[in-house]
Amino acid sequence: MENNMESEKKSLNFIEAIIKEDIESNKNGGRVHLRFPPEPNGYLHIGHAKSICLNFGLAEEYGGKCNLRFDDTNPVKEDVEYVDSIKEDIKWLGFKWDGEPKYASDYFGKLYEWAVKLIKEGKAYVDDQPQELISEQRGVPTRPGIESPYRNRSVEENLDLFERMKKGEFEDGSKVLRAKIDMSSPNMHMRDPIMYRILHAEHHRTGNEWCIYPMYDWAHGQSDYIEGITHSLCTLEFEIHRPLYDWFLDQIVEGDYRPRQIEFARLNLSYTVMSKRKLLQLVEEGIVNGWDDPRMPTISGLRRRGYTPESIRNFADRIGVAKRDNVIDVGLLEFSVREHLNKITDRMMAVLNPVKLIITNYPEGKVEDVELINNPEDENSASRKVPFSKVVYIERDDFMENPPKKFFRLGPGREVRLKGAYIVKCEDYKKDENGNITEIYCTYDPETKSGSGVSRKVKGTLHWVSAEHAINAEVRLYDRLFKDEDPAGHKDVDFKEFLNPESLKILKDCKLEPSLADAEPGDKFQFQRIGYFCVDKDSKPGNLVFNRTVPLRDSWAKKSK
Ligand code: ATP
Ligand code: MG
Repeated sequence: MENNMESEKKSLNFIEAIIKEDIESNKNGGRVHLRFPPEPNGYLHIGHAKSICLNFGLAEEYGGKCNLRFDDTNPVKEDVEYVDSIKEDIKWLGFKWDGEPKYASDYFGKLYEWAVKLIKEGKAYVDDQPQELISEQRGVPTRPGIESPYRNRSVEENLDLFERMKKGEFEDGSKVLRAKIDMSSPNMHMRDPIMYRILHAEHHRTGNEWCIYPMYDWAHGQSDYIEGITHSLCTLEFEIHRPLYDWFLDQIVEGDYRPRQIEFARLNLSYTVMSKRKLLQLVEEGIVNGWDDPRMPTISGLRRRGYTPESIRNFADRIGVAKRDNVIDVGLLEFSVREHLNKITDRMMAVLNPVKLIITNYPEGKVEDVELINNPEDENSASRKVPFSKVVYIERDDFMENPPKKFFRLGPGREVRLKGAYIVKCEDYKKDENGNITEIYCTYDPETKSGSGVSRKVKGTLHWVSAEHAINAEVRLYDRLFKDEDPAGHKDVDFKEFLNPESLKILKDCKLEPSLADAEPGDKFQFQRIGYFCVDKDSKPGNLVFNRTVPLRDSWAKKSK
């Protein structure tokens, strides 16, 4: 896999090849201008991140520009909350749009003028039939559709009706404006597509100024044209719309410049649902705690989970762009964040499921500072002092009453090293009435302090936190939200049937080394031997909350084997 990625990187992908050719032939004056066109009807997800990295990335690569354009043609589902979150997410990923953000709604006036022009040229008409009937008359690709009885209205009548539609004289759904193209085209999108519908709804930007709204196909290409976009990238499902994209442009283009639509495969991730509708459902039904729940594939969820912009950009680079739909293993996304966090995070001591270990021969009241290097991956890493004392916490899992041979951690009569400190030997332990271990008693060998040069072979090294100095924290262990590889891909089963009941485990009594007391929301760490963690936005001094980003190793890879 690694080799493939390398060689892919060197050769241009098909979009780069097109852009390069266009520059060389001086098409559109050699300009490169892209856009990212989200509809503000939800939060952005990792699929959008792919599109963002692609569009903004190409603009950077070819010295071009990239617009942010809100595709806000559907007032019913759209909201400023989404507009704001989208801007924040793009900035966080490290991209900058050209000029001010743009809005398709800014072009409603121009689109209306162009629609009037089409009517005057006999290329658009008002249809009084309900939308269902219009769809029915379109028929099937193999046979011509049925022409609307209103198709041959006079230009004057169409102009009058269209103006009155705009003025609000008609009810929602009672009329539409259609392009007059070809009711027998094998491409269903060319069978007199709807350009405008009536919607008496308040728009988050234009308020009540408009009660007719353009359809996506009529708005998109014209917006591209208004903005001088040269390469209009979209996902494969729009390939079939391309002839219509071009037909609409044919009606309005003056001069040499025109935008070109290019399709690429959308990102699909295993164990993930990516449809905004389904994500909205998870939020509205309270299955997750909001759009930024760390289990959501949204950019805000990934950010809260502890993902870095670099890890997401690296992921987007790795997966590249293709012309065919495929599914990417979510493990690759997790790999990308692990890889980056491994480089940048300090290694800290944190015990998530604590049990007390008492060193019986260690002096009461004595505290030693143990020196630990912050990040061994970083040559210039600083180190810090961590207090060690007679009573420490270790992980419950690191002790077994009757350990099997291969268990290299602590058990009766066994020796381990406490990281950065001493070798200890388990002499005894205590249990409560339910058989749970409550205390472990050890002796230590004072000769074996780390760095003293005196050592002997022990198989295990455990992390620990001095009980007296420990700070408490809540730790939220997040895992994949779905336990099925393709939760949305089952025909008769709802995707929510495949929720992973263990996607969130909350541990309330975790013990951390004292240097974590000042950690602030967003700070990221490796907890030694456990995984990567970040401070949650709910965290407060004295009431720390950490999220697990990913475990140190991919536990799902093992499971599926
Ligand atoms: P909707 O169904 O609401 O239209 P959408 O996923 O198409 O949802 P948009 O806001 O229209 O959402 O998408 C903005 C841009 O992001 C579009 O250019 C779209 O092609 C791209 N995009 C959306 N989902 C993905 C994905 N999974 N992979 C790559 N690009 C995507
Ligand atoms: Mg869309």
